[in-house]
Amino acid sequence: TIRLSNVCKSYGNYPVLKNIDAEVARGEVVVICGPSGSGKSTLIRTINRLEEISSGSITLDGQDIHAEKRTKELNLLRSRIGFVFQNFNLFPHLSVVENVTISPIRVKGVAPDVAHERALKLLDRVGLAEKAGAYPGQLSGGQQQRVAIARALAMEPPVMLFDEPTSALDPEMVGEVLAVMKGLAAEGMTMLCVTHEMGFAREVADRIWFIDAGQILEIAPPEEFFKNPRHPRAQRFLTDLR
Ligand code: ATP
Ligand code: MG
Repeated sequence: TIRLSNVCKSYGNYPVLKNIDAEVARGEVVVICGPSGSGKSTLIRTINRLEEISSGSITLDGQDIHAEKRTKELNLLRSRIGFVFQNFNLFPHLSVVENVTISPIRVKGVAPDVAHERALKLLDRVGLAEKAGAYPGQLSGGQQQRVAIARALAMEPPVMLFDEPTSALDPEMVGEVLAVMKGLAAEGMTMLCVTHEMGFAREVADRIWFIDAGQILEIAPPEEFFKNPRHPRAQRFLTDLR
């Protein structure tokens, strides 16, 4: 369970997140949506502490991520939160399989041959078994993003965060990445996803968080949110999408 309690964040005098109170339960899939600049990326990045917060707290299974001062414990906590970025962020000088094995070996101390074997299984699961020896630059965007998902999964995190994982992709590659995400959701992974893929949100999300100007204005199941959004700002947002 991820719990955000009264989370605030400002850049200088400019508040980006205002009193965020929300929870992602174990096994839940949450889709965060909201207009550009509303704070979606900032919010999701505070969860594994890629961004610091100004006040409030964020806990993963009761452990306070922003209170942790010891580097080792923080890294351990971070390794329990998989993160997939819009722009893949693969290591360009490492092969696909090395991208997947490096963290388990370096951070978790997994034996290289064990890490390698697990990596091949994960690559198979995302449909890229035959690309193990390739380099990121030799792959399509959709393939790179699937490697990025496999890399995150290699740490066996109980929680996965996604920040617009398909928005840098050509349209024909969006489906293959969403399919991997759907598979993860079906297996019970706890997921928090920022995405503009409303079809995915409708089909896969347990709840939608609608955020505007740094505030969560509405939390609702997708069937409710898309049919009868309560907040006027959410109504306007959905009208603008159509
Ligand atoms: P998008 O849909 O375009 O990705 P977003 O909802 O992810 O937008 P954020 O990237 O979280 O929005 O940004 C929220 C606000 O914080 C924006 O007004 C942005 O300009 C501001 N912001 C983000 N990063 C910084 C920074 N490093 N310094 C100052 N302001 C920032
Ligand atoms: Mg963003």
